[in-house]
Amino acid sequence: MRAGTIRGLGVSPGSAKATLARLAPPVATASTDPVTEQPEAALGRIEWALGAVAAEMAERADRAGGVAAEILSTTSAMAADPSLLEAAGRQLRAGSPTGHAVTLAVAEFCAMLEAHGGYLAERVTDLRDIGARGVALLAGVPMPGIPAPGHPIVLTARDLSPADTATLPGSDVVALLTEEGGPTSHTAILAKSLGLPAVVGCSAAAELPDGVMVSVDGSTGEVRVGPDAMGGDRTGPTTRPAGSSAVAAPAGPGRTRDAQPVALLSNVGTVADAHAAAATDSEGVGLFRTEFLFLGRRSQPTIDEQTEVYTDVLTAFRGRPVVVRTLDAGSDKPLPFLPLGPEDNPALGVRGLRTATRYPEALADQLTSVAKAARSAGRSVRVMAPMVATAEEAERFVGTAREHGLDDVGVMIEVPAAALRAGELLDVVDFVSIGTNDLGQYTMAADRAAGALGHLLDPWQPALLDLVALVGAAGRARGKPVGVCGEAASDPLLAAVLVGLGATSLSMAPVSRPAVLAELRGLSAEDCAVIADAARSAIGAEQARIRAREARDQRWSVPA
Ligand code: PEP
Ligand code: MG
Repeated sequence: MRAGTIRGLGVSPGSAKATLARLAPPVATASTDPVTEQPEAALGRIEWALGAVAAEMAERADRAGGVAAEILSTTSAMAADPSLLEAAGRQLRAGSPTGHAVTLAVAEFCAMLEAHGGYLAERVTDLRDIGARGVALLAGVPMPGIPAPGHPIVLTARDLSPADTATLPGSDVVALLTEEGGPTSHTAILAKSLGLPAVVGCSAAAELPDGVMVSVDGSTGEVRVGPDAMGGDRTGPTTRPAGSSAVAAPAGPGRTRDAQPVALLSNVGTVADAHAAAATDSEGVGLFRTEFLFLGRRSQPTIDEQTEVYTDVLTAFRGRPVVVRTLDAGSDKPLPFLPLGPEDNPALGVRGLRTATRYPEALADQLTSVAKAARSAGRSVRVMAPMVATAEEAERFVGTAREHGLDDVGVMIEVPAAALRAGELLDVVDFVSIGTNDLGQYTMAADRAAGALGHLLDPWQPALLDLVALVGAAGRARGKPVGVCGEAASDPLLAAVLVGLGATSLSMAPVSRPAVLAELRGLSAEDCAVIADAARSAIGAEQARIRAREARDQRWSVPA
């Protein structure tokens, strides 16, 4: 067994130890695959495979609770449905190879469910999963998707799609280890929100065998393998450090040592996230990633469904501000119910607010739902649009939102053009929030999911800080709020820099809040400005970090 230590980028703090399990890719089937058995023998094997899938789903349903158990039981019943087997039989008799007969039978059923729409159409993803599992069993290869062995596992993969990550809650996964991915990839963001330790951009993970014991440290990026992982704590996750500050984590509102308020808000993507964050000191929600609610959906969520979820979140945060971001569909977060067709370069294509030109009714329905939710929760709400490039786009969005009765309207600053002309945008909106993840990607022309480009995506890149400074100055000049909701806000030292550059609020995964709060409490607003200047005077991200650290160490003092 291979032992030793490998390294990647720690993106979600905490550590966990468990056996490694790989996310297997689905097996592709084709009508041209060789036919190796008689239809009767093939049908017998398909019956066995679908039966095994049904049994596995039923077993998982027994282990899971609540809604998950219901879904898994329904999935088990679909796998055991005799008409699915009959459909596969018809395909076999028409000359189809064994695995492909399953694929075709499943496709036939999916088309039927989709034609029904509503709840049944939602089951299409589960049915496809059954087919993929059945095909893998027939081919004698590992089941695709997240393994569910019934004991804790560290999940490894090249990278995880948003759809894979959506099925992580309630699974056996105690930590993530991916070959690709950067600090702002969605794998990193979701891991943080789920409190799962995660190491990304670890190319050596590709060579690790399934079943080896690994210990993953999501703070340092260190992964110990085999006997080297055996020491220390017991299997499973350990308590996650809230931050690495030497000072006891303070509580209360975000502010600098000289009492300048800096609201420390939460990034949430699910109702569960929101409830967990609402139970902390979090001063509100700075970014509600609504697309995360609907990643697996094939049909557009209805106004009633959306209203219910938004009302739940607004109620949980009663008395605290909530910024709902409209659907950031496209690129790395494709939503099946808003198909955008093939694009050569989706990150530069139709995504975020741009999808509203193709699907205006989706934006209208969402804004209607948000306004209804605010009324039913008896409170105010803020909305903002992602991927806005120009003041005209911002103005159109504000107009549409106001037509829906929403009066606190902002946009994200994620495109360099929007940062360069932030003043014009701020003139037409009530607030802006800087998405440093995308702003970094577009400033440096480096795909945020590409592990190999991590150095360019480093949020300490002075070019990115320069753009943040432009937005901060435009906000100050107009007396309008400038938030930061990208991952940069969760690095305590960088948080001080962002405040120095003019950020009036910072939004992050709740796990990061105590360390950011501790850092800001020890620095005055002027200290933050000095540290920001030091960072911006550097050439390159590494030097920016060092210069900021030196300036900070000279000025930070234990809060009175
Ligand atoms: C960002 O781009 O910084 C951001 C907060 O949005 P997302 O990560 O969801 O693209
Ligand atoms: Mg973004």
